[in-house]
Amino acid sequence: MSDLLVIAERRGNEIHSSTFELLGKARELSIKRPLTVSVVVLSDKPVEEDSANSLFSGGADRIILAVDRSFSRFNFEPYTKTLASIVREFAPEIVLAPATTSGRTYMPGLAALLKTGLTADCTGLDIEEETGNLLQTRPAIGGNIMATIKTPNHRPQMATVRPKTFSALKEAYESKSELVNFEVTPDLTQTEAKLIEFHPIGAGQKGVQDAEVIIAGGMGLRKVENMEPIFRLSKMINGTVGASRKIVDSKWIGHEAQVGLSGHTVKPKIYIAAGISGAVQHIAGMQTAEFIVAINRDRNAAIFNFADIGLVGDAVEILNELAKSLESEVK
Ligand code: FAD
Repeated sequence: MSDLLVIAERRGNEIHSSTFELLGKARELSIKRPLTVSVVVLSDKPVEEDSANSLFSGGADRIILAVDRSFSRFNFEPYTKTLASIVREFAPEIVLAPATTSGRTYMPGLAALLKTGLTADCTGLDIEEETGNLLQTRPAIGGNIMATIKTPNHRPQMATVRPKTFSALKEAYESKSELVNFEVTPDLTQTEAKLIEFHPIGAGQKGVQDAEVIIAGGMGLRKVENMEPIFRLSKMINGTVGASRKIVDSKWIGHEAQVGLSGHTVKPKIYIAAGISGAVQHIAGMQTAEFIVAINRDRNAAIFNFADIGLVGDAVEILNELAKSLESEVK
């Protein structure tokens, strides 16, 4: 049986949800073509029993654990060299990683070391039963078409997948629960790079990818000062502020807030789009939201085609009204 390798994403001591989404998809692929699903964890300490059990019940047949103090935080060279060594030893057919900041950084390096290709930012994966070719679907040409890519001549087949694209298993997988310790030799962790500072997202704040409620602003807010009701509202309802690319490019907010093709894919319970036109590239990142509220003064704006509720009017006025009525509810 061939191997499918998922590279786990760690955030502090936690295994990030994107890992479980990839494991869920891996199990789905293994119905079509028998695959042993392994998950690689690079860590500065052994995985705790709870984390190991959640990876097994999340779909992994095997955990490959590589422990070294250089893995306390993401570090490009030790990551890519160790992962390359693991891939050479286990010879998987497929390697998957989340298209997070770190996944997007180490996967091209890993593909180069392994002299194979990489399909970045996939939004769909399937497999050809006979050949084992991975069918890797992703938006192309500025998000206007979906391209399905296969790499019949090279192995392993490598892809990154946007978090929130797939779902984790709903029922626990009955795993063989094999744990393999991979020896990290000093040559694998040698690096010239030094981590100088690390800035986590503000305390208690969630990134857009993990948020359950997102209030996103667009150019229809007209000026940076008009972001204030968005921040106020999001604080009141424990939400996260999102953004269209235009306001990120205008430096009203950092890139970490950008939703869309060249930003993040999100899957919140509620997504409020204020003053956002609904360009395909924005829609590509937020159409997976469970419930969408759009505020736009143009009743023909494309965003209304995707909204569960549409409010036609001035975004700043409506957001201020919403904040006021919530404030009076709380009092
Ligand atoms: P605009 O298009 O300027 O729309 C502003 C909207 O606000 C309009 O619909 C207008 O009717 C409305 N409005 C105006 N005044 C008011 C008011 N007072 N109250 C309420 N509504 C008002 N975009 C992304 O967002 N994310 C991406 O990741 C992304 N990636 C891209 C990648 C590529 C390769 C390319 C080519 C483009 C990408 N874009 C992305 C850009 C995208 O095409 C759009 O330009 C962008 O989404 C538009 O942002 P916007 O809706 O905020 O602004």
